[in-house]
Amino acid sequence: MINVAIDGPAGAGKSTIAKAASKKLGFIYVDTGALYRAIALNAVRNNVLNDDSGLVKMLESTSVKLQFDASGSQCVILNGEDVSSLIRTPEISMGASKVSSVPAVREFLLGLQRDIAKSNNVIMDGRDIGTVVLPNADVKIFLTASPECRAERRYKELIEKGESVTFEAVLADVNQRDYQDSHREIAPMKPCEDSVMADTTGKTLEESTEMIIKIIKGE
Ligand code: C5P
Repeated sequence: MINVAIDGPAGAGKSTIAKAASKKLGFIYVDTGALYRAIALNAVRNNVLNDDSGLVKMLESTSVKLQFDASGSQCVILNGEDVSSLIRTPEISMGASKVSSVPAVREFLLGLQRDIAKSNNVIMDGRDIGTVVLPNADVKIFLTASPECRAERRYKELIEKGESVTFEAVLADVNQRDYQDSHREIAPMKPCEDSVMADTTGKTLEESTEMIIKIIKGE
């Protein structure tokens, strides 16, 4: 199996680029952020987002699965319910960043991620894929872009979805999540020694995807 790990901050274009590259290469694209988002949604529903011991207890009765359809598209199933679109809100983005700093949550999701990579050619995106989840991945990429560029992309996405947000609020969220994700004690977001750095600032989706495919093919 070929395993590609793509890590990097929110809004660098990881999911869009990894999805496009997976399609071209015939790999499965695994968006691990969706798993943390599903846990955050469950935490909001159970009112334990700010209660770590309640959150850990909640995990005992939580089931999270990823399903892939024939075209390789991913669905997230939380306790039997498809929550794929419910998890794409700013509230759940921030909640996911919060729950992801709890060691028991990371441990809970680790086996699931490794199992998928064991039996499939995957491009897996997240924050700690190259460092923790798949330390033996064949290719490791750390995808970045400037905070302003990332906030601009996120802002456009949210506006297109009809959310009412300001650019300044999105930029503040991007900066806060970067800080939280890279300063947490467990599995902080950081490039590994053997990762290839790829910067998408000012690049189109096509240019960025080409760049990633070249890295994966070792060209
Ligand atoms: O990638 P996405 O923005 O959907 O991730 C949501 C949050 O989940 C991130 O801000 C991060 O805190 C957490 N996450 C993580 N490890 C991963 C993927 C996501 O900690 N592998």
